[in-house]
Amino acid sequence: MNIGILALQGAVSEHISSIEKNEINAIKVRTPADLQNISGLIMPGGESTTLRNLLKNSGLWKAISQSSLPIMGTCAGAILIGKCQDETFGKIDMIIDRNYYGRQKDSFEKNIRMENNKIFKGVFIRAPAITSIGNKTKPIAWADDDIVGCIEGKNMALTFHPELTNDLTFHKLWLERLK
Ligand code: GLN
Repeated sequence: MNIGILALQGAVSEHISSIEKNEINAIKVRTPADLQNISGLIMPGGESTTLRNLLKNSGLWKAISQSSLPIMGTCAGAILIGKCQDETFGKIDMIIDRNYYGRQKDSFEKNIRMENNKIFKGVFIRAPAITSIGNKTKPIAWADDDIVGCIEGKNMALTFHPELTNDLTFHKLWLERLK
């Protein structure tokens, strides 16, 4: 199995290393042709407006919109696969608010709780917040009472950066869904 990492901007190398630590081949995705031989795509954090422009200029926006390739979106990637006031792929039925935590809390770490009560160290960088989810969308991670991760089918959105910790839990969770 090959996993593609969208390599236009943002936290690319960290996701590549998280995938390779699972002994899975990681491929950098920069053009529509790069989508051919992958079983899933990671859309990393960065800046969603910049990412959108780069995706459109490369032809990837159209190709991804038309494909049903499973996507794991983290931070800016989560914004792009959810729904917000800006144009997105809307692959997951959830409303996501950009830069939700404002300037004072630009970046922070906070414990994330999973369904089995497992604790994961969440790294939030100018993070968005998931403010509502549709009834087919399943929440999978919380910080206090806020949903910070959810899944719909084979698409997963996380408002934090799992690739910046050594814990592979969320990458593994998504990879399991692709099998
Ligand atoms: N604030 C960024 C945006 O709105 C996301 C930040 C991130 O990906 N770390 O696109």
